[in-house]
Amino acid sequence: MNAMVYHGPGQKAWESVDTPKVLHPTDAIIRVTKTTICGTDLHILKGDVPAVTDGRILGHEGVGVVEAVGDAVSNFKPGDRVLISCITSCGKCEYCKKQMYSHCEDGGWILGHLINGTQAEYVRIPHADNSLYPIPAGSDEEALVMLSDILPTGFEIGVLYGAVKPGDTVAIVGAGPVGMASLLTAQFYSPARLIMIDVDDARLEMAMKFGATEVINSTKADVAAHIKATTKDGVDVAIEAVGIPQTFDVCQNIIRPGGHLANVGVHGTSVDLQIQKLWIQNVTITTGLVNTNTTPMLLKNVTSGRLQAEGLITHRFKFNDFPQAYEVFGNAAKEKAMKVIISSD
Ligand code: NAD
Ligand code: ZN
Ligand code: ZN
Repeated sequence: MNAMVYHGPGQKAWESVDTPKVLHPTDAIIRVTKTTICGTDLHILKGDVPAVTDGRILGHEGVGVVEAVGDAVSNFKPGDRVLISCITSCGKCEYCKKQMYSHCEDGGWILGHLINGTQAEYVRIPHADNSLYPIPAGSDEEALVMLSDILPTGFEIGVLYGAVKPGDTVAIVGAGPVGMASLLTAQFYSPARLIMIDVDDARLEMAMKFGATEVINSTKADVAAHIKATTKDGVDVAIEAVGIPQTFDVCQNIIRPGGHLANVGVHGTSVDLQIQKLWIQNVTITTGLVNTNTTPMLLKNVTSGRLQAEGLITHRFKFNDFPQAYEVFGNAAKEKAMKVIISSD
């Protein structure tokens, strides 16, 4: 089969590799029909994730058809259409029992990281019963690819940890796919204001279409001054969806007493936590790696059309154009790209 293989920082190729086989009774082999590229794949390619070694197949998102299952798989059979979760989970360990699948003792984020991933014609999924979700007949499978990672991430780590409530003023810093996922799913709770902050006008324009009530380009306006002038004393919820010290700083400067700062961004360095100002404000700060325990709920809302995830898809490619898909996604601002879909046919 062909797959997108990592060969060390800056090096990758769509090349021929061995087709995966069932290794454990709880495995399933999936024929991937649609996959996508995540910002995390770009981090890996920069060499930021040293656990990913030469020869690893990239990718942790996708949908497909079950090709084969091990003897212990009881929820799925060959021919079933499935959604692949970016988080693999056994369903049995202490963390899985608490629905903290991201810390599964025999799983977590391993696809396209510690084991071969989904940017391939076939992928082996360990603990298939708990790590795959059945796709209802007639679903828009492109939209469902948004459920492998970005929708649960934006919802669980941004909206739920941020405790968004009706009437809240919510600021989301970062209008990438994850920030957009927070923007879409925050609307389950009817916040009064949804303020989107980014440096890219095209992304901010897209955010207005997805339900932002206002946008701020932080290269053109002072975010803290704007928030100060248009709120009583700051925002109820600030969601950090970039992962750099400057944007964490924006969040801690605009949060009101009793507010929630939900950090979603993956940080590579420490931030300047202003604990001496925040403690007396009763501010809650949360962090986290997506658990994907809300995937079944989100799946219902995408298939019913309540959650319009397909709008995040800006570009489409075939498997043989994988390198070009990386080129476009890697130059997202220039290409006006948000999520790209790469399909088998
Ligand atoms: P992305 O790179 O596509 O989006 C980041 C956005 O931030 C871009 O639109 C960019 O223009 C904007 N930005 C950059 N600098 C800025 C600044 N100074 N001020 C305001 N905006 C700025 O990334 P993404 O795929 O949307 O992911 C967002 C973050 O979430 C990343 O750090 C990613 O690694 C992380 N992530 C976390 C989890 C988790 O489980 N916690 C899961 C997936 C992704
Ligand atoms: Zn991802
Ligand atoms: Zn587990």
